[in-house]
Amino acid sequence: MTPTLGRHLELCRGLIEALQHEQLVLHYQPVLDLRSGDVAAVEALIRWQHPEHGLLPPLDFIPTAETTGQIVEVGEWALVQACRQAQAWRQDGLPVRIAVNLSARQFSAPDLIGSVERTLRDTNMPPGMLELELTESMFADPTTSTVILECLRSLGVRVAIDDFGTGFSSLSYLTRFPLDTIKIDRSFVAEATRRKHAATVVGFVVAMAHELELQVVAEGVESEDQERLLVSHNCDLSQGFLHSPPLTAPECERWMRQRISRPLTSIPGGADVEDRPVARKQPQPRSNRSHRRRAAGARA
Ligand code: C2E
Ligand code: MG
Ligand code: MG
Repeated sequence: MTPTLGRHLELCRGLIEALQHEQLVLHYQPVLDLRSGDVAAVEALIRWQHPEHGLLPPLDFIPTAETTGQIVEVGEWALVQACRQAQAWRQDGLPVRIAVNLSARQFSAPDLIGSVERTLRDTNMPPGMLELELTESMFADPTTSTVILECLRSLGVRVAIDDFGTGFSSLSYLTRFPLDTIKIDRSFVAEATRRKHAATVVGFVVAMAHELELQVVAEGVESEDQERLLVSHNCDLSQGFLHSPPLTAPECERWMRQRISRPLTSIPGGADVEDRPVARKQPQPRSNRSHRRRAAGARA
């Protein structure tokens, strides 16, 4: 038995226990609106509180869970848990949109739509407050992907493309799939202040996304210089260590409550806007592209 296989089996057995003994936890990272300074959303990011190895990041176990198929159960757990948390915050006066990552296997699982529908119903979550994050690599079969995305849209949930720019798929999917958000991969954000061409790509992606009536999140924003550049390119939302790392649920709640009372001068482009509460506006249920057209008009 190779060490790799041994490690794989250990992880696989460990994950069964993790699900049974509630060792999985979600951390939450705020996403800020670059114009108003509001917390526009939080992204749920899974961790494994391992009894021997401590807190494990997702990349230590999600690939194995994907190979063994356990990711479907793990992903369903994360979806339910994230919606429960978002709903609890909403009831406590913090109505914030929650973003949940889906794996390729979950995206093509026969019961994906049923599982999302049940979760929304059981947690009483408004569908427009849930955003599912997918990656370009999941769209290998455009016909099937379109059907799945149309079904998700009919439930009223939002869809984001995560790690945008790292895949090799054709851009044509952007015109045919019902999408709401593009998340620019952090590799572009990191390069943007160092290399002129990377900044050009960021500017191009933002302009293209806005033409397609999509919202743009910059991932992995670590410095004020990066954020200033993003503001100058009209990027909508910012997520990264500059504002906050992923936090436990109580930490994230404290962070959001403190944010309400903080002036906006620390946010580039937000200095002339009055302080505003977290997620002040409830997103309206979205039925078609005209909704996004109106949103784009309001942005201008
Ligand atoms: P992602 O969805 O692109 O999540 C963003 C990752 O970037 C997170 O890593 C986050 O901690 C990290 N990050 C955020 N801001 C910064 C920054 O300013 N600088 C740097 N260097 N990193 C930053 P994390 O939590 O380790 O998650 C890694 C990936 O694991 C996620 O990438 C996502 O693809 C996957 N993942 C996380 N949770 C889940 C889940 O519940 N289900 C599935 N299927 N995948 C998940
Ligand atoms: Mg993500
Ligand atoms: Mg990402």
